[in-house]
Amino acid sequence: MKSLILLALLQPGPVDLLVRGGTVVTVDREMRVLAGGSVAVRGGVIEAVIAPGQSLPPARETIDATGHLVIPGLVNTHGHVPMILLRGIADDLKLMEWLNSVIFPAEAKNVNPDFVYWGTLLAAIEMARDGTTTFTDMYYFEEDIARATDKAGIRGVLGQTIIGFPAPDYKTTDEALAGTESFLRRYKDHPRVVPSVAPHALYTTSVEVVRKARELSRRYGIPFQIHGHESPEEDVSVRQKLGRTTLSVLEEAGVLGPGMIVHHAITVTPDDIQRLVRHGVSVSHNPESNMKGASGLSPVPDMLKAGVVVGLGTDGAASNNNLDLFEEMDTAAKVHKLFRSDPTVMPAREVFRLATLGGARALGLGDRLGSLEPGKQADLVLVDVRTPELTPIYDVYSHLVYAIKGGNVRTVIVGGQVVVRDRKMTTVDADEVMARCNEIKARVLKSLGREGSQ
Ligand SMILES: [Zn+2]
Repeated sequence: MKSLILLALLQPGPVDLLVRGGTVVTVDREMRVLAGGSVAVRGGVIEAVIAPGQSLPPARETIDATGHLVIPGLVNTHGHVPMILLRGIADDLKLMEWLNSVIFPAEAKNVNPDFVYWGTLLAAIEMARDGTTTFTDMYYFEEDIARATDKAGIRGVLGQTIIGFPAPDYKTTDEALAGTESFLRRYKDHPRVVPSVAPHALYTTSVEVVRKARELSRRYGIPFQIHGHESPEEDVSVRQKLGRTTLSVLEEAGVLGPGMIVHHAITVTPDDIQRLVRHGVSVSHNPESNMKGASGLSPVPDMLKAGVVVGLGTDGAASNNNLDLFEEMDTAAKVHKLFRSDPTVMPAREVFRLATLGGARALGLGDRLGSLEPGKQADLVLVDVRTPELTPIYDVYSHLVYAIKGGNVRTVIVGGQVVVRDRKMTTVDADEVMARCNEIKARVLKSLGREGSQ
């Protein structure tokens, strides 16, 4: 076995935080797992991953990880976080009916800075307690979402939506592009918020506007995200309107390239997969939302084989209906097996990589996030495995994908800061957030003329 000693990298003096004595699941190049390992953190960054039996540095704070798996924080590559406030308002409908009869009217009447701020805090609590340390958003009033993300202490890749019809925040695409630019300027150097440009989709937004949005993302060197190939209906409408597939249109328009993530990628053709490879475009895979909407299944095994970088996402809580990436991993691993009648596809180890380093790379953050290695941001999650449903353990990846749930997460560290301690959020008063969100629910029901309903 190769030496795992990285103590030589330790600087003199006590480290800020030492997480000691856990089973460290590194997700490094060799996918090393260190039983009884430790992680030393200084200045918000991992300074050393220390093998068992090696001497440990002095530390200002020590967390005993005995009986825990210590994993990289999970990375959620797609969602609309404030839509958590519409979770369960309508389910089991055809997509267009769901959107047109409930979601769009509810959004038109209720989405404002207050709605997105409290919704983001609620989602941040859920995600952090489920082990997610980085999430990706595409919504409105992104500056207020950034404010809530900053308060919660987790990371967000926050995409200001640009859409070809009047939105709750901007009435025209010109206003949206200008507003997005000021958001990018304001947040481009923030330690945990990565601003992003997010034209909604080709069936809602013109190619010209998508191209302008792409120019903006290139000028500021920040991630570009778009929905694409989300359902057969969308595919038909794009082909009718523009004569070819979404990825083909975007290639022609010069939009494809590194730093871009496509959400869903269900109806991609073999040529589209080659386009993704050729231009270094990554994909967010959201199987639970796609199953609930009966939209289809993205050919992820084919994309991975071709060399596409893929991350896992939950999509919004109104279409999932939770933000637990452990569940998403479980589903992603199983649904492809069923679909292909082949239990060997999407093995647990590979699926766990998608939810960590895969997601980080898909967002262009693979050099900073997604694994436990010296020099990376100290985003660590401690999963308590001293519980009957997780006893005994033969294989950590099997447990992480098929047995562990978000509720098994005990402690979460983001950039060296403990944001969840013993399942309690340290940065936000969860009771206050729930109270404010219940007030918003009452307003939503009133706006839809449904005051009497539960
Ligand atoms: Zn979406």
